[in-house]
Amino acid sequence: PIIRALAPVAGAEALVPTTGSPIAYANLDYAASAPALTSVAEQVSAALTEYASVHRGAGHLSQVTTARYEQARETVRGFVGARADDTVVFTRNTTDSINLAASIVPGDVVVLDIEHHANLLPWTRTGRARVVSSRPSLEDTLGALEAELSRRPAALLAVTAASNVTGEVLPIGRLAGIAHRHGARILVDGAQLVPHRPVSVASFGVDYLVFSGHKLYAPFGAGVLVGRGDWLDAAQPYLAGGGAGAAVSIDDVVWHTGAARHEAGSPNVLGAVSIAAAAQTLRDIGFEQIGRHEELLVERLDEGLAALPHVHPLRIFDDAPSRIGIASFVVDGHTPREVAEYLSSRHGIGVRDGKFCAHPLLAKIGRPGGAVRASFGVGTSSADVDRLVEALAELG
Ligand code: PMP
Repeated sequence: PIIRALAPVAGAEALVPTTGSPIAYANLDYAASAPALTSVAEQVSAALTEYASVHRGAGHLSQVTTARYEQARETVRGFVGARADDTVVFTRNTTDSINLAASIVPGDVVVLDIEHHANLLPWTRTGRARVVSSRPSLEDTLGALEAELSRRPAALLAVTAASNVTGEVLPIGRLAGIAHRHGARILVDGAQLVPHRPVSVASFGVDYLVFSGHKLYAPFGAGVLVGRGDWLDAAQPYLAGGGAGAAVSIDDVVWHTGAARHEAGSPNVLGAVSIAAAAQTLRDIGFEQIGRHEELLVERLDEGLAALPHVHPLRIFDDAPSRIGIASFVVDGHTPREVAEYLSSRHGIGVRDGKFCAHPLLAKIGRPGGAVRASFGVGTSSADVDRLVEALAELG
């Protein structure tokens, strides 16, 4: 072995749910959706046993439920290191958060062509997006963004913190500096980075951060937008309805400010509780440990794949300093779908194939037909990685 065998992240073994499948199954698709941790399931169960309406009732259970929901908001605020006066809005997912953001931005938005469609289409359809072409060098790409922002003012730079295709990590602090130097704000798509690395909104200088619960070891259905309150409070509510209006008559409405303005309707309390539970558990395990574990797994996979001449990894940049636990590749002589089906049916390995909702990026890096993506999380062991490499070796 290239490195010593790695079990799942220490402290996480008991938290990773087992599938009950008769064959040992290697889930290497954390980047799509990460299985809910057992600690999350426990907290959701507890919340399920006693709840009533949130924000609406004077009864004991309503108060308990409201407290759980608002406590979850504060846990999320702490988890991402937000400023005390930032607004934390619960949404449905990252896509929803970015659509909300698109409804509040007062001006042009600069984006890169490497983005997931969730951080591209909400902007392009406003007609106010200026898409900057990425370069093979990350340094040159930062330069191109800076040039675009200095050429003409923009309200916002919207950028991913880590590619969902290659796992390459972008320098968020430097990007924030570039945006701010030119009078723009920055929105960071943290869907991929937040579950894998510590993120601090305040110390990185991030104005808005968005992410999804289902990639953070929580169930589907809840996401977050954290950020500066002024644009949020100045904009029309994202959803109109109960809870968003402070005073309503037939002819007029005074909207709330703060999170309530954009959270009309009964909120997803269980989703918020699950995100907070996952955040707390990841904190308890420790991001230093999570990051080190993934780096070793990525190194092991990269070395394994480098020995297979028929397997070709994808990269956006030739100088990205680090990657989260994601590796995409193509295999000579086989379509991505064939490879994914072979890995599943013959080896019990679950990966993703396709274009990963990043069609412009796949076209740009010369893989318009898509690729295969393996991705890791706290439950991944080095045996899972070895199994993938051995299975791919048989395709040579
Ligand atoms: N951005 C990135 C970088 C992603 O990886 C994803 C999910 N693949 C999204 C946005 C969209 O997330 P969701 O489907 O949870 O809205």
